[in-house]
Amino acid sequence: MGLLYLGTALTWEEVKKHADHVRFHGITQFLHTWDRLKDRKGDELLWGDEIEYLVVALNDAQKDARLSLRQTEILEKLSSICGDISSDCPESVSVPTFHPEYGRYMLESTPGSPYTGSIPDLLSVEGNMRYRRALARKHLKRHEIPLTLTSFPRLGVPGPFTEPYFDPADAISSHSLFLPEEITNPHVRFPTLTANIRQRRGSKVAINLPLFFDTETPRPFIDPTIPWERSIYPEDHEAKDGAALPDHIYMDAMGFGMGCCCLQLTFQACHVADARRMYDGLIPIGPILLALTAASPVWRGYLADVDCRWNVIAGSVDDRTEEERGLKPLDNSRFQIPKSRYDSVDMYISPDWINRPEYNDNPLPFDEGIYNRLRDHGIDDLLSKHISHLFIRDPLVVFSETIDQDDEKSTDHFENLQSTNWQTLRFKPPPPGSSIGWRVEFRSMEVQMTDYENAAFAVFVVLLSRVILSFNTNFYIPISKVDENMGRAQQRDAAQNGKFWFRKDVGSRHHSAASSAASSDCNSCCSSPVDESPKVKDKKMRNCFPDPPLPENGTNPLPIHEEYEEMTMNEIMNGKGDSFPGLLGLITAYIETLDIDTDELIKIHNYLDLVKRRANGSLITSATWIRNFVRSHPAYKHDSVVSAEINYDLVVAVDEIERGVRQATDLLPADYTGSKEDSGTIGL
Ligand code: ADP
Ligand code: MG
Ligand code: MG
Ligand code: MG
Ligand code: MG
Ligand code: MG
Repeated sequence: MGLLYLGTALTWEEVKKHADHVRFHGITQFLHTWDRLKDRKGDELLWGDEIEYLVVALNDAQKDARLSLRQTEILEKLSSICGDISSDCPESVSVPTFHPEYGRYMLESTPGSPYTGSIPDLLSVEGNMRYRRALARKHLKRHEIPLTLTSFPRLGVPGPFTEPYFDPADAISSHSLFLPEEITNPHVRFPTLTANIRQRRGSKVAINLPLFFDTETPRPFIDPTIPWERSIYPEDHEAKDGAALPDHIYMDAMGFGMGCCCLQLTFQACHVADARRMYDGLIPIGPILLALTAASPVWRGYLADVDCRWNVIAGSVDDRTEEERGLKPLDNSRFQIPKSRYDSVDMYISPDWINRPEYNDNPLPFDEGIYNRLRDHGIDDLLSKHISHLFIRDPLVVFSETIDQDDEKSTDHFENLQSTNWQTLRFKPPPPGSSIGWRVEFRSMEVQMTDYENAAFAVFVVLLSRVILSFNTNFYIPISKVDENMGRAQQRDAAQNGKFWFRKDVGSRHHSAASSAASSDCNSCCSSPVDESPKVKDKKMRNCFPDPPLPENGTNPLPIHEEYEEMTMNEIMNGKGDSFPGLLGLITAYIETLDIDTDELIKIHNYLDLVKRRANGSLITSATWIRNFVRSHPAYKHDSVVSAEINYDLVVAVDEIERGVRQATDLLPADYTGSKEDSGTIGL
C-alpha cells in the first residue's frame, strides 16, 4: 500500500463529480514525470520483496484458530521496535518496514531498503525475510502467530472466525452476508474503497469458485451456510436471486480477495526502455508462476476445485457497472470493459521490434482524449495506450482536502488510478522528489508457507529478469494466450497436470552476442563501466544492457500461431527437446556469465532446485499439500467441509513446518531447516 493519507473521504456520489478532474490532473502529473525522467539512465539494479502475513490467534484448549484483529496495535509496536533498532545501530543497513494491509488481521513487511544487484545481497534475501518474520513473531502475543498462508481457510464461515468476534450484520461498508465491518483495516481509505466499489457497481461483488466435490459432498450443492433469508441490507436478496451459484463457493465482499496474502517483487531498471522490456518479458511468466506458487485451495470453510486466489481477488474489487460488464447496452457508462480493475495486464508496452503488434490482441478500451493528449506530448503509441487504458477507470477514493494539487510536485492523482489498477505486472514511474528510477513490479505469486520457498521464488524471478534483459530473450505470445494461461494456472494441480501456451523459440541464439556486447555498449548508460567482460568481476548482476539486436534483414518471421505451443510446467521450467532450454536452463546459462564463488553457486542452485522440483513434480505445490492435509485429516468427512478442528490442525502444522519442527518432505527438500534457531541468533 502507498502512504495512508488521513482526511475526509468522499462518498461515491461525490467522487463521481471529481473523476474527470482526478484523471486530467493525474495525466498532467504523469507528463511532468515523463518530461523530467524519460531520458534518465544508469539506475542500478535495486530490488525488493513484499511479504504479507495473516496473524492467527490459537486456542489450543478448544482447537480453534482465528484471525487476530490487532493489526493497529501490532503495527504500532513493530514500528517503535524498528525505530529503536535503527537508533541503536545506525550503521545497520536494513531495518525492516511493516505496512498495513486491507485485512485487519494482516501485516506486510519489506526490507527497510532495497537489495542491490550483488550476489551476496541476492543470497541475503532469505535471512532478511526470516528476520522480518522473527521480529513480527516476537512482538505478537504468546498465542498469536504470523502465517504466510495465502487465504485463511475459514474466513467468512458462520460463527466466530475472528478474535474478537463480530457479527457480519454490522458490515456497513460491504453489506456482506459473511464478513463483519471489523475485518477491514479501520483507516478510512479501506472502508471507503469497499463501499464505493459496491456503489459504483450497483450491487455487491459476486464471486463463485467451483466447489471441490469429494465422495460425500451432496449434489447438487446448495450451500447451507449462506444466510439466504437475511434481510438487513438492500443487497441481501442478491444471493437467492442468482448471485450465489449452486455447486460453488459464493463470496460477496472485497475482504475475501484483498484479505489474501501474496509475494511481490519490484525491480528497478537502468532506464525506461529497459523497464518496458522487462515488463513485457515478465508478462507471460505471470500465470506460470501463479500456477507454480499455487497455495489457496480452501475458501469460506470449503475445499475449492481451484488452487489459487486470483479470480477471487479479481472478483472482489470488480467495480464495473452492468453496462461496463456488457450485461446492458451502454448508456451511462462510457466503455464496455472486459476485465475487473484487478486482473492480468492487457497489453505489451516495449518499443522493441520483437514486440509485434499482433501480440496485443486483447480488446483494449482506452480513453481517446487522454490518448491524444499523451500522443500530442510526444509519447509513443504503446505507452500512450497503456496509460489511457488504465485511465478508463474512475478514482475510487478521493479526499476533499487533496483535490487540488501542485501537479509538478505531486503524483497523487496519477497514483490514485495507477495503484487501483491491480494487475499482474505494474509499470512504476519514478516518484517525485526521490532518487528512485523506473521500476517493474511482479505481482502474480501466492505467498509460500516458509521463507525458504519465498526466497527461492524471489531468487528465480530476479535472475529471470536479468536473463530477459541480458540475453534479449523473446517470450512474446499473443496476450490473449497469456490470459488463457491465467485461467489454466488456477485449475487444481495445474503445475502437475496443466498445459500452458509458451513460446517455442525464445531467441537464445542471441546469448553470446548479448553477453559479450555488454562490455562495450553498456558504458553509455552504466555509472560504472563494465570492462572485464564476459565475467563481471564485482559479483554484481548486470543491470545495464546493450540495445536489443536489430531485426535480421531478410528473415521473415513465422506466422504468429506457429511461434508457440502448449507445454507442461516441467517443459517450461526444465526444457523441451534441443531447442528450448527452459527458464531454468536460461538462468543457468546466465549465471555462468557471472563470477560467482563455488559456495555462492551452491546456494543459488539450492534455491533453483526447489523451483525445478516443484515443476517436475518431485515436490508438490503448497495448494496440493494443504488439500492433501485436509483430505487425510481424521476428522474430515469427505464432504468438502474444512471444520474448525481441521483448520486449527492445519494452521498449527503450517507453523510447525515453518519453524522446522515438523517435516514435509513432499513439499520441501529433506534438508530444509526451519526458522526455529533464528530468534536466538539474530539478537532481537
Ligand atoms: P507497493 O506496496 O506500492 O507495491 P512497497 O513500498 O510496499 O510498494 O514495496 C516496494 C518494494 O520495492 C520494497 O520491497 C522495496 O524494498 C522495493 N524498493 C524500494 N526502492 C526501490 C528501488 N529504487 N528499486 C527497486 N525496488 C525498490
Ligand atoms: Mg501488500
Ligand atoms: Mg507494499
Ligand atoms: Mg502493497
Ligand atoms: Mg501498494
Ligand atoms: Mg506491491
